[in-house]
Amino acid sequence: MGLIVQKYGGSSVADAEGMKRVANRIVSAKRDGNQVVVVVSAMGDTTDELIELAKQITPIPSGRELDMLLTAGERISMALLAMAITNLGHEARSFTGSQAGVITTSAHGRARIIDVTPGRIQEALKEGAIAIVAGFQGISQDTKDVTTLGRGGSDTTAVALAAALDADVCEIYTDVDGVFSADPRVVPNARKLKTVTYDEMLELAASGAKVLHLRCVEYARRYDLPIHVRSSFTTNEGTWVVKDHPVGHSLGKGTEMEQAIISGIAHDKSEAKITIVGVPDRTGVAARIFQAIADADINIDMIVQNVSAAATGLTDISFTLPKAEGPDATSILQKLQGEVGFASIQYDDQIGKLSLVGAGMRSHPGVTATFFGALSNAGVNIEMISTSEIRISIICRESDIERGVRAAHTAFELDTDQNEAVIYAGTGL
Ligand code: ASP
Ligand code: MG
Repeated sequence: MGLIVQKYGGSSVADAEGMKRVANRIVSAKRDGNQVVVVVSAMGDTTDELIELAKQITPIPSGRELDMLLTAGERISMALLAMAITNLGHEARSFTGSQAGVITTSAHGRARIIDVTPGRIQEALKEGAIAIVAGFQGISQDTKDVTTLGRGGSDTTAVALAAALDADVCEIYTDVDGVFSADPRVVPNARKLKTVTYDEMLELAASGAKVLHLRCVEYARRYDLPIHVRSSFTTNEGTWVVKDHPVGHSLGKGTEMEQAIISGIAHDKSEAKITIVGVPDRTGVAARIFQAIADADINIDMIVQNVSAAATGLTDISFTLPKAEGPDATSILQKLQGEVGFASIQYDDQIGKLSLVGAGMRSHPGVTATFFGALSNAGVNIEMISTSEIRISIICRESDIERGVRAAHTAFELDTDQNEAVIYAGTGL
């Protein structure tokens, strides 16, 4: 008994059958004595289709109108879902993001939630109704225009609403059974994680794991709100995203009492690498280069600077960034070449990033050696390395990524023969 926020992704409500199936789940949570708030995404590929439609009208639609268009996808879902619940004999009321009190910045297409004032939701709950809220949208505090939170933003709506309502749990329903130790399409014998910490989930999401939106995890951590990621196609227990692993948490075989060292392996093929060759090794040069990149609002990821050769006083700087930003970054750097005086720029978009994440690596020596050993046995050459307290990432050839992920997965004894990774509807994303 309590207050539950449930979020259903587009693959769970892809058609009328899906809507009815989800309605049954919602009603059963209500029958168990809970107050239930539901956040719903647009049906199936609706968002993609709406974007495509807009592009047929104009190559660069205005942000305001595109947001108005895209939020229609979630409105369709919320109304149909409310009807399906009403059909089952329970009262349901749908609300747009704005009606639900989701107040955002005015940055169309990537608005951030500033505040949630869910008065109308609380009223509906008090009157015994199930509240259905359109995900991924809000209203700008200053312009009062309708905004969207960025692709996949319904997760963030759900967690923000759960925090504002002081819910007991936020359940995120998707088409996979939870968070896996690696992408099940790459590692068929990946295992479902029972728990993953906020910090691990943030690292996994930032490293390319697509099961949860990064901002939704940041939100959950800030409010210490447990997230239960699970499939809407089964009643299986999913993965709990929580502050700490429970005592005795284990993944490795025969090490029941020990904490698992590695929780998961993420990979990302969406980045490119830029190398600036022959950079004068002088104070202020790196600052100049990265200020120019920052001024263009380009997000960079890993950076490596070599020791400069004593004879020349020159060094190389490499960094990674989203492929989509590659052309912009390259032309910005070309303009700097005269001023900074480096030799040349190399652009490489055939790279992949492989990241090992686990809170247990803090207290276990030898993780890096095992990881690099596994990559070497698999014939994967490491081009860049970066680490945090609970993550080791490497850059390698894009074509080596899948082999590398499988090798690391086996080396850390994460493989399971339970055949756990089942994808029910779509892509698992
Ligand atoms: N419908 C939006 C999208 O596809 C939001 C979401 O699914 O979370 O990105
Ligand atoms: Mg979607």
